[in-house]
Amino acid sequence: MRLDVISIFPEYLAPLELSLIGKARQDGLLNLSVHDLRDFTTDRHRTVDDTPYGGGAGMVMKPEPWALALESLLSEGARPTLIVPSPAGQVFSQSIAEELATEQQLVFACGRYEGIDERVIEWAAQHFEVRPMSLGDYVLNGGEVAVLAMVEAVARLLPGVIGNPESLIEESHQDGLLEYPVYTKPSQWRGSEIPEVLLSGNHAKIARFRRDEQLRRTVQRRPDLVALLDVERLNRADLQI
Ligand code: SAM
Repeated sequence: MRLDVISIFPEYLAPLELSLIGKARQDGLLNLSVHDLRDFTTDRHRTVDDTPYGGGAGMVMKPEPWALALESLLSEGARPTLIVPSPAGQVFSQSIAEELATEQQLVFACGRYEGIDERVIEWAAQHFEVRPMSLGDYVLNGGEVAVLAMVEAVARLLPGVIGNPESLIEESHQDGLLEYPVYTKPSQWRGSEIPEVLLSGNHAKIARFRRDEQLRRTVQRRPDLVALLDVERLNRADLQI
């Protein structure tokens, strides 16, 4: 998969050189490049922002450097997906990460200040599948943190990135439920013991315990997810336990 990130703070994306994502890049599973938006400015001061039309506080990102940067990533016949991080976007989720993991090329446009001139988004739709995407209902200073999260969520789904692909199957949000609690050695720690069933060696009982914990946690912590559950799918999965 090819990933391109455009930002005025390319150093902000340095964590993408670390850990599993860094290794996936080294192994050639991910072709990830970070581009400095200022390289696409044409004035001496490498200006990327200007005052907003209509007045108001803050600055707005100028359209032309964005158009030049985005054009530089286009190739014959391709229509990449352009993710525009924005608190006014669709809220990013595991199912969106799964969708994006099937794409050939993703481009991420990190906004700063009050955001990018809206005409860029309209213009980009001629060449890209544009998806304004929010990390959640709060406001960050820039798109970089959102891109770090989205790239990690997408990249770990690509074949070969996670050593044991089985670990992806039982995770939170995979089937609409939160994951069950996990424990490791020692079995007694500071007066606290692990649930006894986990020492029983009875796989059916352990599976039932974990499933019940998933349901309990989801109801307790995320009642909003319960309404979205696909009951038939859950029942089918439950019958296999
Ligand atoms: N004025 C904008 C608004 O109220 O919608 C917020 C601009 S914010 C200070 C600057 C940039 O941070 C945005 O252009 C976007 O790239 C990024 N950003 C902020 N919050 C975000 C969120 N919840 N999800 C994704 N990106 C976010």
